[in-house]
Amino acid sequence: MGNDLAAFAKENGVKYFMISYTDLFSGQRAKLVPAQAIADMQKDGAGFAGFATWLDLTPAHPDMLAVPDPASVIQLPWKPDVAWVAANCVMDDKEVDQAPRNTLKRLITEAARDGMHVKTGVEAEFFLISPDGTAISDQYDTASKPCYDQQAVMRRYDVIAEICDHMLALGWGPYQNDHEDANGQFEMNWSFDHALATADKHSFFKFMVKSIAEKHGLRATFMPKPFQGLTGNGCHAHISVWDETGKTNVFADNSMELGLSAKGKNFLGGIMKHASALAAITNPTVNSYKRINAPRTISGATWAPNTVTWTGNNRTHMVRVPGPGRFELRLPDGAANPYLLQAVIIAAGLDGIRSKADPGKRYDIDMYQLGHTVTDAPKLPLNLLDALREFDKDKSLKAALGEEFSSAYLKLKQQEWNSYASHFTQWERDHTLDI
Ligand code: ADP
Ligand code: MG
Ligand code: MG
Ligand code: MG
Ligand code: MG
Repeated sequence: MGNDLAAFAKENGVKYFMISYTDLFSGQRAKLVPAQAIADMQKDGAGFAGFATWLDLTPAHPDMLAVPDPASVIQLPWKPDVAWVAANCVMDDKEVDQAPRNTLKRLITEAARDGMHVKTGVEAEFFLISPDGTAISDQYDTASKPCYDQQAVMRRYDVIAEICDHMLALGWGPYQNDHEDANGQFEMNWSFDHALATADKHSFFKFMVKSIAEKHGLRATFMPKPFQGLTGNGCHAHISVWDETGKTNVFADNSMELGLSAKGKNFLGGIMKHASALAAITNPTVNSYKRINAPRTISGATWAPNTVTWTGNNRTHMVRVPGPGRFELRLPDGAANPYLLQAVIIAAGLDGIRSKADPGKRYDIDMYQLGHTVTDAPKLPLNLLDALREFDKDKSLKAALGEEFSSAYLKLKQQEWNSYASHFTQWERDHTLDI
């Protein structure tokens, strides 16, 4: 399409635009703008009180203007009257540095200056649960090894196929859908793309999955560990870097170990070097740390890492190299902010390339069985507070993500941790009452 959203509305019968931005806590915030008003909004942006969302602003700040990026527009396949469009936040004629989409765009521009174009794919797992959020929605989905369960995935065919049909119509190149390793859990895969396109699709995917689930009287959750004892919601990211032409994968080199080029190794080295700090972004909630570092689940494995290690085609480590020319970061979870996930991968990877970082020794062991034998690799943070402290200590990662972003993120996340820590729990009574 061209860049004219008013023309887009005319051509496609769109009545309303949903001008949407994502805040620091992954909240998608939107205004519904009638098509008649979109030309003005495209010029000036839609006004928001930024403080009313998860951004480090005060009620006294001037209006934050969300300026739609027409390249991202998607007509809602399930409600064609409406088109969603991702927006960039501006205040006082300047981009708001802490707004996640701006943070990502800045890093993409920086990578491009070094001739690097990051392409990624994400695996955003989710559960279909009861509308009140307390239980999985399918009472017959009880197998102890439910992964790829043919009968269970067909009981949810109406939901899964509807979402996949929409991805087909949008041209995302979806290629497989399955029941995942936890009861009630599903995964849907579509093709990788440039980091910004993947971040926009990832945001839209979450919106779409939740909307279609609601249509069917269900609820979808991407919460990292919604049920104790069951495998959590990961959001693995697959990463490669391409040259200007977009045709040559600069991570691919079949003469090298596992088909990963020297550049690919250095990028990976950056991820390994910053892993404990970047967990504050890839695993951004209190609940995230119940997915990583978890005891064995009912299915036999958590499928989540607890240590900063990498390997070949082996799913028990933080990083897997599944084939030549890319690697998979298995650390991120369903709470990861789609924009910040991509931003922190690029920030850590660029630092790795610039500093020629070595990813260290490769471990080809079953980490779940033999993790105790690895003594020279750091453990991932045990909770959100540890992760925030690691992030705060990592000066180069904070600088790469931008000082304004980093201090805003740390401030709001620290407040979230404080709110959690001051909350009284039954566990405390159970363990302390009779002391
Ligand atoms: P697995 O479950 O084995 O980790 P999936 O098929 O579920 O793998 O997901 C793989 C993801 O990796 C998809 O989004 C796919 O498009 C993406 N991908 C494949 N090749 C590349 C590549 N070269 N660069 C980035 N992403 C890739
Ligand atoms: Mg008002
Ligand atoms: Mg997968
Ligand atoms: Mg999976
Ligand atoms: Mg995976």
